[in-house]
Amino acid sequence: MEVLVIGAGLAGVSSAWYLAQAGCNVTVVDRQPGPGLETSFANGGQISVSHPEPWANPSAPATVLRWLGRPDAPLLFRWRADPAQWRWSLSFLHECLPGRTTRNTAAIARLAAYSRRELRALRTATGIEYEAFTGGILHLFETAREVAHLPAKLRQLEELGIRGTILDPDQTIAVEPALAPLRARLAGALHGLDDESGNAHLFCTALAEKAQAAGVRFLMNNTVQDFDLIHGRIRGVRVLDSDFRAGVLRADAFVLAAGSYSPALVRRLDIRLPIYPVKGYSITVPIIDHQRAPRLSLTDESRRVVCSRLGDHLRVAGTAELNGFDLSPNPARSAAIVNWLEDHLPGVADPARAEHWCGLRPATPGNVPLIGRTRIDNLFLNTGHGTLGWTLACGSGHAIADIVSGQRPEPAFPFLLAKAK
Ligand SMILES: Cc1cc2nc3c(=O)[nH]c(=O)nc-3n(C[C@H](O)[C@H](O)[C@H](O)COP(=O)(O)OP(=O)(O)OC[C@H]3O[C@@H](n4cnc5c(N)ncnc54)[C@H](O)[C@@H]3O)c2cc1C
Repeated sequence: MEVLVIGAGLAGVSSAWYLAQAGCNVTVVDRQPGPGLETSFANGGQISVSHPEPWANPSAPATVLRWLGRPDAPLLFRWRADPAQWRWSLSFLHECLPGRTTRNTAAIARLAAYSRRELRALRTATGIEYEAFTGGILHLFETAREVAHLPAKLRQLEELGIRGTILDPDQTIAVEPALAPLRARLAGALHGLDDESGNAHLFCTALAEKAQAAGVRFLMNNTVQDFDLIHGRIRGVRVLDSDFRAGVLRADAFVLAAGSYSPALVRRLDIRLPIYPVKGYSITVPIIDHQRAPRLSLTDESRRVVCSRLGDHLRVAGTAELNGFDLSPNPARSAAIVNWLEDHLPGVADPARAEHWCGLRPATPGNVPLIGRTRIDNLFLNTGHGTLGWTLACGSGHAIADIVSGQRPEPAFPFLLAKAK
């Protein structure tokens, strides 16, 4: 079977790899010159199985209100005359209901645990290198009130099959000595034992090379404009290359993995995808004091900032802003991340040489990705991974390959096996 994958980010490259493993002839098309150059380029680096709870949870509305008007608010809604943004925000509110949050958390946790297993298997099978670190993630808490909730949180994770340990400040420092200067501020930590970290862009390019060696064709610098729909089936996609030459790519099946741009591509097919871009920022900073640099990936739970060591660099990422497709840098939000680094790990890395980046998370209101069939029987989705596209990449890629090739995917996840809206 000929399969065309649209998008060469984490979702598209992983789909292509597993489709090729399933025996399909795969082509990947992307408008960029190489894989992983949009949202998958400089994310927080975390394989965060221990954080399946979506932003849309019962405490979110109060938190958003508390941060209202602060330009450096970790989660910021910038209201626009954009019906898609208003629709998405209303759905987000709905997903904050306790029952919805429980359901979404469980679905994400099952896919995340499966995805981590698939990532490990892939690493063993291929020897893929991407600055991986497998020592887990430390979720840091600064108040006794937050720490008091940890036993219940851990029980919840364990019920979902996710392992963790609660640490007091001394135990936290024993696990990660780089946190010693923060001793007075730490109230405790949760160590996600099954978590990992790694460079998502390196992973995309390395997996694309391996996929290419396995026969996958990558057609870069080609923008998908539209689908050819004939008698209810997609016959091909219309593309424009960087010299504005038009072409048509034909296949038997099509997998849409175009991140935040997925909804626009299928709107003309009358398929509405509840995905909205949620902008986030990162800095990548060269380490100048390797002795004092953390090895474990960190999540500062009160400020919603993550920090991962990627080779000789620290990647610090965070903030979420609903502001359409605007990719212009916002100095206040970049500064909030630089300030976090200087405040928490002073002298460890050189912020003057920071590479600044921002990207658009393709977010569904409940952060549950859209994986599976659409009402057009040869058009499939692997998109909408929001805050967890790196964590969920391998599991989602394997699952969509199973679905396209008529197999039942392994995890109990609400795959779109019937008709999409
Ligand atoms: C600041 C930040 C921090 C993050 N941290 C983490 C983290 O620590 N852990 C985690 O799990 N996740 C994290 N994420 C989320 C994760 O990075 C995303 O979920 C993931 O990268 C989405 O991958 P994707 O392949 O769906 O989208 P993308 O990487 O955006 O890929 C989509 C591809 O489609 C292509 N495309 C789009 N339209 C067209 C078209 N018309 N024609 C041709 N090609 C097209 C694009 O060029 C792009 O290459 C973070 C995100 C951000 C922004």
